Amino acid sequence: MTVRSTPRALAAVVALLTLGGVAGCSADGSTGADPKRVDVVAAFYPLQFLAERIGGDAVKVTNLAKPGAEPHDLELNPGQVGQVSEAELIVYLKGFQPAVDDAVDQNAGDRAFDVASVQPLLDAAAAGHQHEGGEAGHEEEPTGGKDPHVWLDPTRLATIGDRLAERLGKADPDRAADFTARARALRADLEKLDTEYAQGLQTCQRREMVTSHTAFGYLAARYRLEQVGITGLTPEAEPSPQRLAEVAKEAREHGATTIFFETLVSPKVAETIAREVGAKTAVLDPIEGAPAAGDYLSAMRADLQTLRTALDCS
Ligand SMILES: [Zn+2]
Ligand SMILES: [Zn+2]
Repeated sequence: MTVRSTPRALAAVVALLTLGGVAGCSADGSTGADPKRVDVVAAFYPLQFLAERIGGDAVKVTNLAKPGAEPHDLELNPGQVGQVSEAELIVYLKGFQPAVDDAVDQNAGDRAFDVASVQPLLDAAAAGHQHEGGEAGHEEEPTGGKDPHVWLDPTRLATIGDRLAERLGKADPDRAADFTARARALRADLEKLDTEYAQGLQTCQRREMVTSHTAFGYLAARYRLEQVGITGLTPEAEPSPQRLAEVAKEAREHGATTIFFETLVSPKVAETIAREVGAKTAVLDPIEGAPAAGDYLSAMRADLQTLRTALDCS
């Protein structure tokens, strides 16, 4: 008797669950939304890191960029555009991901926080290495272009964190003090990292780093390094044979022993130049995507060790 009644009982339970699920969804208009937490959409990993560190358990953060995918050329599916329309806060960097900029313009209203608005960005032209009076412009970025890779200066990231805490405090005023406290703790971590970088890169045999794409302008500016980017500010640009020859010449001229490549971009071009000039290759992570292990802080420390070895720092 019990056995025979089970299927019907199960069916009833399933029906109830389904009804419950539907009711749960329609109540707040989105799947997975949590009324107790601020729904935050982050456009790519470093912004997810910031939102999670500062928001803590008061936020639910969704990263628009998929793990292992290069976020510059991110495309949004309709579900993600829906997430942008429904999120309580969208944290993005205007000028970094055109698809996100469009979705924000069309759907976000005043719920978007543009981290590029916190401090003036560096000019794109300043990111590359140039000899005084010589060899003008290769791979020119559009005039007036800005370098978006601001998260690679920890002190700038700390300031962005302070502003994000204020913005979260407006979304959830009851927990504003928590956000401020967490931003302060994050700032302490980032300032410690900044000190390690300044000390670790103080005395080096070389200061030129040959990188895959021109992502390290802020890091170079902060720690007095010179960046020779093989490609421009976006990684997908295929370098011309002429550009490859220029970079090889630069690498030789500065005695570079290491050509850097990135986890999310093919190492082929870096390997070609390294072979040509008799250098090694090593991964220098621009932290555009989530690190395979650890977080922003540990990935930055790994980069510091890589740089110290490659540049012969004492
Ligand atoms: Zn980049
Ligand atoms: Zn040079």
